[in-house]
Amino acid sequence: MTPDTMLSSQDLIQMEDKYGAHNYHPLPVVLAKGEGVHVWDVEGKQYFDFLSAYSAVNQGHCHPRIIDALIKQAKELTLTSRAFHSDLLGQYEKYVTEYFYYDKVLPMNTGVEAVETALKLCRKWAYEKKGVPTNEAKIIFVSGNFHGRTMAIISGSVDPSSTKGFGPYMPGLTVIPYNDLDALAEALKDETVAGFLVEPIQGEAGVFVPDDGYLKKAAALCKENNVLFIADEVQTGIARTGRLLATCGNCNCSKGCENNPEVKPDILILGKAMSGGVFPVSAVLANDDIMLCIKPGEHGSTFGGNPLACAVAMAALEVVRDEELAKNADRLGQVFRARMAKLAEQSDLVTLVRGKGLLNAIVINDTEDSSTAWDICVALKENGLLAKPTHGNIIRFAPPLVINDEQLDACCTIIENTINTFQK
Ligand code: PLP
Repeated sequence: MTPDTMLSSQDLIQMEDKYGAHNYHPLPVVLAKGEGVHVWDVEGKQYFDFLSAYSAVNQGHCHPRIIDALIKQAKELTLTSRAFHSDLLGQYEKYVTEYFYYDKVLPMNTGVEAVETALKLCRKWAYEKKGVPTNEAKIIFVSGNFHGRTMAIISGSVDPSSTKGFGPYMPGLTVIPYNDLDALAEALKDETVAGFLVEPIQGEAGVFVPDDGYLKKAAALCKENNVLFIADEVQTGIARTGRLLATCGNCNCSKGCENNPEVKPDILILGKAMSGGVFPVSAVLANDDIMLCIKPGEHGSTFGGNPLACAVAMAALEVVRDEELAKNADRLGQVFRARMAKLAEQSDLVTLVRGKGLLNAIVINDTEDSSTAWDICVALKENGLLAKPTHGNIIRFAPPLVINDEQLDACCTIIENTINTFQK
């Protein structure tokens, strides 16, 4: 079947509604094209994309270098499965482990699969290396987390929209408050604890940035107690927060921080922008003492590490380095927060702006169950900018990291003008 290009946005929304499961509530816009920071709907209207597919499109839509890599590789070989070797897998593994300074990578596809993989790896390490009695390993999660939608992962969620109606849940997960070192120290007294899973900044929860030093102290507590520090950087990684990783030290070089990370996670989880949004690519990185606990036949994925993914991910990571996207996100993030802070000062509606790099959010002065944030996003769409509320009254702003000064200035003006029409 050839797609019908004559259908209107309304026709296409109705079609999705009729034939697709109702597991999302998208903004009423139907996109047909993307380039850099822009997307276009089927009627040809242009928008700034201020969501970047939840930070997957950090390199901008359809980056020519990434698309070239995709097309070139698609003509040669797309999938071997891991039953055979491919000419790209080893080269990709060398590239990505040198890029992030780990001994080994375990390639997967989606973010949630990589988180699942990290949990399995952590449990295996606990039994083989730490000596936790069989089936007693625990992994600590924090409140407000978002790590994806599979059964194991939602078992550690405290968000009813993720969990309600989906029980029974997987045992062996404990939830403590986020950004609370005393609670962590207390939880670590249990000798069956194997790992601590944390997002360096909580994206889906509404861009919650923990206190300075939280991650460093949490990692030190884990080390003292022989517990693995597992960082889920699926959303915060790959230059989004103005650092190559949100766990990097105070350096926006896009090169990784071998000598001076703020925290060097024992297990690092990446996804989304690993491919610039072109193809599902995720990864779990760890050193040999941890990664080699998983043996042949104990974990895998038909598509994980396929040749297309390898080619696309190498091109996508090269773009991040060559275009110094962490530096751009760091600098323009400061400009963005300064503009939004001014708006918050003048406006009754915006109470707060927070974030790091180009992962930011504003908090709307209304109850969590009000429709104000949604209505603002609909009005932003009318004015040419796409963003979405995260939790009720919080709007996340996360443009592609290739955005330039003039574009950011135009976007801030759209946001200011739109919010000003909503003043109470
Ligand atoms: N982890 C974090 C921190 C995320 O933000 C997300 C998705 O938003 C995931 C994991 C799940 O990724 P995916 O939707 O690719 O499975």
